[in-house]
Amino acid sequence: MRESERLANALALYPEDTQEAAALLKQAVPLMMRHGIPPNPVHYALWYTYCRGHEPDLNHQLDRLVKEAGSFPADSATKLFRDYIIRDELEAAHAGQQQAIDLVDDMERDVSNSVKINLNFQASLEHCIEMLDEPIALPSILSELQQSTQLIQDQQTLFLSQLRAAQNEITSLRAKLERVQLAATMDSLTQVLNRNTFTRLLEQALGNEPQGVALVMLDIDHFKQFNDQYGHPLGDRVLQHVGQLLRNALPAHGIAARYGGEEFCIILQRCADGDSVYAFAEQLRLKIRTLRIKTRSTDELLDTVTASFGVAFAESGDSVESLVTRADDALYKAKRNGRNQVQ
Ligand code: GH3
Ligand code: MG
Ligand code: MG
Repeated sequence: MRESERLANALALYPEDTQEAAALLKQAVPLMMRHGIPPNPVHYALWYTYCRGHEPDLNHQLDRLVKEAGSFPADSATKLFRDYIIRDELEAAHAGQQQAIDLVDDMERDVSNSVKINLNFQASLEHCIEMLDEPIALPSILSELQQSTQLIQDQQTLFLSQLRAAQNEITSLRAKLERVQLAATMDSLTQVLNRNTFTRLLEQALGNEPQGVALVMLDIDHFKQFNDQYGHPLGDRVLQHVGQLLRNALPAHGIAARYGGEEFCIILQRCADGDSVYAFAEQLRLKIRTLRIKTRSTDELLDTVTASFGVAFAESGDSVESLVTRADDALYKAKRNGRNQVQ
């Protein structure tokens, strides 16, 4: 439920106009005073509802409590408040909305905090009752009551803003959690999946249906030399470009990951035949070869890079390890045969 709807629902519990509300107040307050019940918002809401008489069960329970217990225990008040005043909220919560449960718990805590402020209200009422004996006391009583009621209203406004803050906090925590969860699956430099996620997804793909799964592994050629010549930061930029290139080239159901260092893996699924996988790897090889490494300041062409590729097809009974080993063997063969090629 949206917050505006929750607020509207809460207000709909009290449809009385000012005069009707004042009449209920006149009944509720003396009742509470008679039974020695502190007029905090929880109690006030209960006895206000009692005087409205729309909840016979509540009236019955309140009657029983003050008659049998001779007092009004705080935990009974909280329970009745939950059962009769914020019942709809709780029903929504029971429907599985953990967030609503947390908010109601916050509400309870804040309401009990507000008891302190409402002690002032109680003191005012006691003072008013003393003044009732004086002949010209009525205007003063009303003004004092009005001030104290204002205090309660302020407290409830504060409480509502605390509720909103709690809700915003939950929303932002959820977004943060999603970001953290996503970050835990990615390689931060190249923005493709990391090795752990690659392993997990390949395991899943093989478990589902090994038929049609292919693995392409690639390793940038002579990358140590590149780093030595141009420095690590430029090497990092090359890795970022390769990552971007892989992301853009992925077919449907394709998964790209950084296996480690300057090695990347691509899982292909639902492959029709070996030729199409070979053609895909060959296309990637050409794209990497046509990357132009330029200086940022002068746009001068510094170098190009190449990569060697190994391709392997899953067979029934394949594990992550056996498939990776075959792709790696093919990659090693590509290196031995002169690099910049697909095996
Ligand atoms: P080969 O053609 O046989 O693959 O030679 P190579 O030099 O690429 O292979 P080698 O395994 O000897 O070196 C890999 C290099 O990759 C070493 C390391 O400096 C570089 N490298 C690994 N990770 C990173 C990284 O995150 N950033 C940069 N800039 N370089 C990296
Ligand atoms: Mg390597
Ligand atoms: Mg290498």
